[in-house]
Amino acid sequence: MSARQPRPDMPSTDQDDRYLATTHEVFNQPPVLENYNLFQQDIALQEAALREGAKSATADLKAFGALAGAAETIDLGFRANANKPTFNTHDRFGHRVDEVDFHPAYHELMRIAFDNGLHSSPWSQPGQGAHVTRAAKYYMHSQVEAAHCCPVTMTFAAIPSIRKQPELAADWEARILANDYDPRNLPDSQKSSVTIGMAMTEKQGGSDVRANSTKAYPVAAKGAGQAYELAGHKWFVSAPMCDAFLVLAQTQGGLSCFLMPRWRPDGTKNPWQVQRLKNKMGNIANASSEAELRGALAWMVGEEGRGVPTIIEMVAMTRFDCMIGSSAGMRQAVAQATHHCRHRSAFGARLIEQPLMQNVLADLALESEAALAYTMRIARALDNQDREHERLLARLATPVGKYWICKRTPNHAYEAMECIGGSGVMEDCIMPRLFRESPVNAIWEGSGNVQCLDTLRALQKEPETLDAFFREAAEAKGADRRFDQFLAQLQHDFADISDFQYRARNLVDRMALVMQASLLIRHSDKAVTDAFCATRLQSGGGMNYGNLPSGTDPVAILKRATPVVG
Ligand SMILES: Cc1cc2nc3c(=O)[nH]c(=O)nc-3n(C[C@H](O)[C@H](O)[C@H](O)COP(=O)(O)OP(=O)(O)OC[C@H]3O[C@@H](n4cnc5c(N)ncnc54)[C@H](O)[C@@H]3O)c2cc1C
Repeated sequence: MSARQPRPDMPSTDQDDRYLATTHEVFNQPPVLENYNLFQQDIALQEAALREGAKSATADLKAFGALAGAAETIDLGFRANANKPTFNTHDRFGHRVDEVDFHPAYHELMRIAFDNGLHSSPWSQPGQGAHVTRAAKYYMHSQVEAAHCCPVTMTFAAIPSIRKQPELAADWEARILANDYDPRNLPDSQKSSVTIGMAMTEKQGGSDVRANSTKAYPVAAKGAGQAYELAGHKWFVSAPMCDAFLVLAQTQGGLSCFLMPRWRPDGTKNPWQVQRLKNKMGNIANASSEAELRGALAWMVGEEGRGVPTIIEMVAMTRFDCMIGSSAGMRQAVAQATHHCRHRSAFGARLIEQPLMQNVLADLALESEAALAYTMRIARALDNQDREHERLLARLATPVGKYWICKRTPNHAYEAMECIGGSGVMEDCIMPRLFRESPVNAIWEGSGNVQCLDTLRALQKEPETLDAFFREAAEAKGADRRFDQFLAQLQHDFADISDFQYRARNLVDRMALVMQASLLIRHSDKAVTDAFCATRLQSGGGMNYGNLPSGTDPVAILKRATPVVG
């Protein structure tokens, strides 16, 4: 019987009572944001990909955008996070296995990432737009599910460090770059595709890795490329099912970098023992662990005592991916918030038409577009490291961007959640996941202050980086009075950096803003540029989102940012 049919047991005279089974009609709720193309529905992304050198990849990016936005892919993200990875030290017969069990949805997301070269393409197919194309894909994939992107990033980022030891690279590189994801817990010699993790952080020192206490003892000869056994512990090791890890440990010659496989070449388990999984507030689908090394076999990568300069090549790439990941989190938050408000009415109008909500949404959209513009510009710099300007720019702009973009994300996620109202807090909406994920990028791979200190280190070691940074920013000079003044003041404030450490956050904040403004002025819509300069370069008083002054054009900003679905 349909809900609208009269109930035979009710007296036919009472019309209202006969329909009691139909409590209400559901209306004024948005359709699910799915089955949309994350590339074609993102104007800023399309423009950035084209501008920064990925024109020839347009068809590929469109196809990937459709895959990322498919309902089935989005569902994988939910399922991978609803099921935390579990850990077993031993199998049921008592053999030590150190095995993490992930939900099949996690493996499927990994398979999509590897299939599409998110861990490999700029190395296996370098050239014009390679980093830009990969960054655009990673940006879309990370919007669907961010946690599994951690091992994708580490595998990708390991290449520059491993290449420092050519015979190790010859053994490992082809398998690292292979696109057929293989999660089996087997010796790497039996696998044609492997994943790589990193183990630096210890209990007594994370940011300050020089405090590492793990020791490395040579098996026979000492030095680069030689075999060592490692003894000690690591306090954070994400993706512990990786086939090998870059590890920092102390030798007599100082802190050195090692490549440590999970299995020994003779097929026995390397005594690298996971103690337990971290109980994380976010980044749920990905496992992170605590581990002990009990004579684990490993090979030295790079020179003895030069562990930090060796692994920093990997860290620089992971920091870049943190920028992509946080930009992606902001984009997904804007997509969710604008989509909701486009379909939801309150007090007689759609929320996206209510002036106060327009102001909040447009402000969120500005933040997201500025983050993307900055990230994609650095992707182009990575594609052109043979040019001195691009090399210097990437060196300085990476810690600045990693600090700023990752730090802007948590409040952005929360504000976007509030645009959705109560449903935005519910676990069947992606917003709680975006919110819980949002602090992670800011903390790992060098927390905020550490990025500011790295900015200072770059300035001190290579003062030309600052010239390159300002040269790039100044390309927008003359187009906006507010920008010109902001740039001039910042350049003036760099005249004396004697107390840089104390003032670092303020200076680095403004570096990020001046670069974002420069990029938007040169490349974005006038409404976006104008509102960005008005709110970020000129003090308007307010601290929260929703501070666009009168005269700005939120409708144009939102037209650019809102996915049209349903
Ligand atoms: C989910 C997750 C996964 C992780 N996975 C890995 C992994 O796979 N491999 C790995 O090696 N590590 C991993 N980490 C560890 C992470 O990189 C560290 O937590 C991070 O580097 C900070 O180190 P710490 O926790 O020891 O904090 P600390 O180094 O004690 O820093 C605490 C605070 O002090 C600040 N600080 C430090 N030095 C200074 C200074 N001189 N001046 C001013 N401020 C300073 C820092 O910015 C930070 O805010 C992971 C962390 C998380 C949260």
